[in-house]
Amino acid sequence: MRDYAKKVKEIEKAVAHVGDRLEKFFKDFNKKHCPKCRCCCCNQCAGAVGYISGDLYRTPCLDKYKDFLKKTYGFSEKTGFLTPKKGCNLPRYLRSQTCLSHLCGKAEDEKFATKLFTVNCDGIEYDVPLHSVVLSMSRHISRVQRKILSKK
Ligand code: SF4
Ligand code: SF4
Repeated sequence: MRDYAKKVKEIEKAVAHVGDRLEKFFKDFNKKHCPKCRCCCCNQCAGAVGYISGDLYRTPCLDKYKDFLKKTYGFSEKTGFLTPKKGCNLPRYLRSQTCLSHLCGKAEDEKFATKLFTVNCDGIEYDVPLHSVVLSMSRHISRVQRKILSKK
């Protein structure tokens, strides 16, 4: 168990800043919709265990890691990591690629996918769909998670 605590700390150190940025993008949306959500994907959280298996299937330590996350972040057999008070209880930097990148029905209703976000590249500003930025950040987090979790 201590091993996983160490790995989680390492993941946090490496990608918390990206997770925080994602948190900011979704803050208002999550506050408004998630605590009382009875919608689609997060309601499958208990059975899918935050969709972690599908994402990290190549990681040999997956089952123990999954157990660690369940114990540490108050997983319930009924609602998974979804809590009535704050929505998802799993820090963003520990979520699966599915949870980080998928836009649920409610997010689609709010047109998250097409919202524009300005990025600066070598002094030139470009407007890109927010969801492209979210996808890149999600992939980055997943790569780091895999790398750290598969270390002996
Ligand atoms: S992200 Fe979407 S599906 Fe998940 S709890 Fe929030 S509103 Fe519901
Ligand atoms: S975002 Fe959180 S509550 Fe929703 S499925 Fe993923 S881990 Fe579960």
